[in-house]
Amino acid sequence: MTDQTSDDGRRAELTANLRQVRDRIERACVAAGRPPEAVTLTAVTKTYPASDVLLLAGLGVLDVAENKDQEAAAKAAEARAAGVRLRWHFVGQLQRNKAKSVATYADVIESVDSLRLTTALDRAVAAVRDEPLEVLVQVSLDGDPDRGGAAGDDLWRVTDAVASSDGLRLGGLMAVAPLGWEAGRAFERLAELAGRLTTAHPGATTVSAGMSGDLEAAVLHGATHVRIGTSLLGMRNSLR
Ligand SMILES: *Cc1c(COP(=O)(O)O)cnc(C)c1O
Repeated sequence: MTDQTSDDGRRAELTANLRQVRDRIERACVAAGRPPEAVTLTAVTKTYPASDVLLLAGLGVLDVAENKDQEAAAKAAEARAAGVRLRWHFVGQLQRNKAKSVATYADVIESVDSLRLTTALDRAVAAVRDEPLEVLVQVSLDGDPDRGGAAGDDLWRVTDAVASSDGLRLGGLMAVAPLGWEAGRAFERLAELAGRLTTAHPGATTVSAGMSGDLEAAVLHGATHVRIGTSLLGMRNSLR
């Protein structure tokens, strides 16, 4: 993809997709009576090359999300080598033995859902970073343990542990609408939990919710960040 013609073609495609996604966000904000700048677009670039990350950065998309450590580390290194400063979000299930690696390049980890991972990340930060790492605690809205996220009282145990870790800064919550749930119901429930969180931790105002298929419902229910892959970059080959 270093060929100039195909690069121009891809830039045109991403430009058109970005305009549509920004329009959708803006219309959803108007419908919700929220200012458009209340919602940050995060591009989920998993499975797509670093060249796409750089093209999107050129179009003003500076928040980028990945869900696999190896792939994310390589793209972050390419962007850094190109002199492009981005905010890297990690949104995948994270194994504790990857905590150190992710802590070197990530700006936000959105998928923290256990006390053990919280401890591992706090230690990793002490080893490899000068500044605290922002963490969103992932909520499981249906309590299904296989799909990641903390549910019930576990959620508050994890948020409190993150908030009291020297190396971590509690930013807020992240969730994916459970399979088979109507998105509005999912994000309404998330908004209730986010309200409870800010009562205990007033600075933890981030609500990361909404993907290509349900960003409107997420914005209606107060998402501050939407995570968009398919609508921006195209269909992925795998189910990731
Ligand atoms: C892949 C992914 C997205 C983006 O999903 P799309 O439907 O492609 O927009 C958002 N959030 C998480 C956690 C993901 O893994």
